[in-house]
Amino acid sequence: MRNHPESFSTRAIHHGYDPMENEGALTPPLHLTSTFAFETAEAGGEMFAGERAGHIYSRISNPTCTLLEKRIAVLEGAEAGLALASGMGAITATMWTLLAPGDEIILDKTLYGCTFSFMQHGLAKFGVTVTHVDLTNPENLTTAISDKTKVVYFETPANPNMRLVDIQAVSDIAHANSAYVVVDNTYATPYLTQPITHGADIVLHSATKYLGGHGDVVAGLLVGSEELVTQIRLYGMKDMTGAVMAPFNAMLILRGLKTLELRMDRHCSSAATVAAMLEQSYGVQKVWYPGLESFEQRDVATRQMSQFGGMIAFELEGGYNAGCTMMNKLKMITRAVSLGDAETLVQHPASMTHSTYTPEERALHGISEGLVRLSIGLEGIDDVIADIVQALPKPAASKAA
Ligand SMILES: *Cc1c(COP(=O)(O)O)cnc(C)c1O
Repeated sequence: MRNHPESFSTRAIHHGYDPMENEGALTPPLHLTSTFAFETAEAGGEMFAGERAGHIYSRISNPTCTLLEKRIAVLEGAEAGLALASGMGAITATMWTLLAPGDEIILDKTLYGCTFSFMQHGLAKFGVTVTHVDLTNPENLTTAISDKTKVVYFETPANPNMRLVDIQAVSDIAHANSAYVVVDNTYATPYLTQPITHGADIVLHSATKYLGGHGDVVAGLLVGSEELVTQIRLYGMKDMTGAVMAPFNAMLILRGLKTLELRMDRHCSSAATVAAMLEQSYGVQKVWYPGLESFEQRDVATRQMSQFGGMIAFELEGGYNAGCTMMNKLKMITRAVSLGDAETLVQHPASMTHSTYTPEERALHGISEGLVRLSIGLEGIDDVIADIVQALPKPAASKAA
């Protein structure tokens, strides 16, 4: 990382913590406290006025969360970080801070289901103009952006169909029009892509997914400049949403980050193997994985991703019904939403994570009804492959045999 000599894992394990300042404890203490003592009445007043550093109340900051905020900031190459209750908490706190009635937000066509719902039904209700633009071609943003546009928002790769957005190209256009660029980096994680280094202003995460990595916590994180992050902390989080991360959850995410590099290497290599196998398999119509030669946006993938992630989207011939049959035949792979866990998970976006879209909206936003989403876990690759192979459709001849 720029201006930082240590490797990704070294920073994920050590940054911002010295055992000798904490009674020698190897693991950072868990600060289970709602409030903090002021040395004097005047000192308390100065903290509230922002003239003196220190913790006041855990809806504003907490030392366990502060350590996590420093770690995610250094991993993303940003000035500052903020820990929130969930990915949706990070998204809503950011939007309530940056947007006002009369402003416009430009979104890519494909978004995680609850993000789509918040933008479409939440923000729109409060007088924000919500416009969807196909950002896979940055030229489209040049045409659509106006002086009302305050925020440009996208996921790359997008949940669930793996579309990529060229972060640098979109950021250049947005900044020429004084709009903020907000990127949901949940799929890639900072180990594969650091959107700040490609021009993004705010990068946010569902830390529930790869950053936690063990399917035992719901959490959100965001990073950006000190100035923007402070605004989101003191307005969007403290006053508007109250979407604060619990200190215990911060500990779980700190633990997850220590193995992020190791886990991502395995997620990526296993997913590459599964994607290649699926593409060669009978009855598979199409596979979307940025590591495949057949992936339409290979140039963007190689430009801004160091590896191609653990998520795969595919569609069987026979669409939804064929997909359901296959999902029901899986023996080890678990039918569940969420992603980034040690367990390989499979789900059907149109009826599950993206059922917040109407069928017409899904058609418009590039989420096909037959799409199946796989989150490749950390199990032995041979076991993952074997389970998928036994569940896939078989040619009629071999069925009879
Ligand atoms: C899961 C998810 C979210 C929402 O995060 P929560 O932690 O569930 O609130 C946002 N964006 C993407 C891409 C996700 O996968």
